[in-house]
Amino acid sequence: MKVLVINAGSSSLKYQLVDMVTQTIVTKGICERVGADDSFHKHGIDTDERVISVYLPNHYEAVKAVLQVLVDPHTGDVASLDEIAAVGHRVVHGGEHFSDSVIIDENVIRRIEECSSLAPLHNPPALAGIRACSELMPGKPQVAAFDTAFHQTMPPKAYMYPLPYEMFEKYRIRRYGFHGTSHRYIAERAAILLDKPLIDLKLITCHLGNGCSLAAIDHGCSVDTSMGFTPLEGLMMGTRCGNIDPAIVTFMIEELGMSAHAANELMNKQSGLLGISGLSNDLRDVRAATEAGNERAALAYEMYSNSVKKCIGSYVFALGGVDAIVLTAGVGENCERMRRMIFQGLESLGIYMDQQLNTQRGFERIISEERSPVKIVVIPTNEELMIAKDVARLCA
Ligand code: ADP
Repeated sequence: MKVLVINAGSSSLKYQLVDMVTQTIVTKGICERVGADDSFHKHGIDTDERVISVYLPNHYEAVKAVLQVLVDPHTGDVASLDEIAAVGHRVVHGGEHFSDSVIIDENVIRRIEECSSLAPLHNPPALAGIRACSELMPGKPQVAAFDTAFHQTMPPKAYMYPLPYEMFEKYRIRRYGFHGTSHRYIAERAAILLDKPLIDLKLITCHLGNGCSLAAIDHGCSVDTSMGFTPLEGLMMGTRCGNIDPAIVTFMIEELGMSAHAANELMNKQSGLLGISGLSNDLRDVRAATEAGNERAALAYEMYSNSVKKCIGSYVFALGGVDAIVLTAGVGENCERMRRMIFQGLESLGIYMDQQLNTQRGFERIISEERSPVKIVVIPTNEELMIAKDVARLCA
């Protein structure tokens, strides 16, 4: 059984074809700059990757291009679309409607539409991808996997904001949380690696990529997470500021004369590592500049690690202890220097990082010392496989 997983972003469309028997990727690719004149399509794995220059005015055309490449008689990966049993779509916002992935029908589509105002850059392209698949592969089962779903188990004390209660009742202003598929995947994999049932574990999962979020997981359920009403809240990120005094927003608008749109752009696209270093949102660049003596880069680096450290600390208290801290995504998986800084000086809390193990790369591993009561675990995330598994489960 093969499952096609589609992840439609505002101007991109990523996909993976997953073989559910071997649980491996058959092929993958990305359509980039969808809607722009210089759009292109990258298809294939590693050395087999090729770039196809093709005009993709919208996500419908992108899906069409992907399906054409998959069934190409000379270079295709399947003989016909019949070989693809079902399609899974990553959908960013499911609001309060969905606490699990779900088979898509008209009702689900309406709900995703309703949530578009909460994720205006992400839900509409996901819907476009869903509609394109319905049209180009009629009758094929489709599943939506929501970034928000895993966090629907949070209790009110974690998801409510201390605003007037009507803001929640009338406008559903609350914490939703994101990266749920990634947090769920690494929690499940960590339990297997630790050889303990997930239900018996207290975990803090850290998705540290360009976007960053932490989740506190108890008995396999998310009980708190750092992203909120939108993915802007929480940790310092590549270009997002994360938590700041909310009065700064009104100051920028009222005192500096910025429009609400400009303030939003500044906080989402010009802040974080990029804003502080003035160089880049990519931690590799910030790290290189730090090592070359750039003080603002060093400050950005320190602020980032401190932001993760403080959030881990708050979740240790909220959970009443922790069995393991799990790291994933570009920074969490690859940056030993950042991991060292995050876990420095925590030995009195029973967190002992093994400096040697910390330098290893590329696979699921425990990087804490044998004697460490709290384990530190690195798990490369695989949201597409998680979505494909949901598709297989729901379509069985
Ligand atoms: P996203 O999916 O959120 O766009 P990724 O999970 O791909 O992001 O992570 C991107 C981040 O990971 C970038 O900031 C990049 O600098 C960082 N990263 C990737 N590899 C390394 C590395 N070897 N050392 C340090 N940072 C790395």
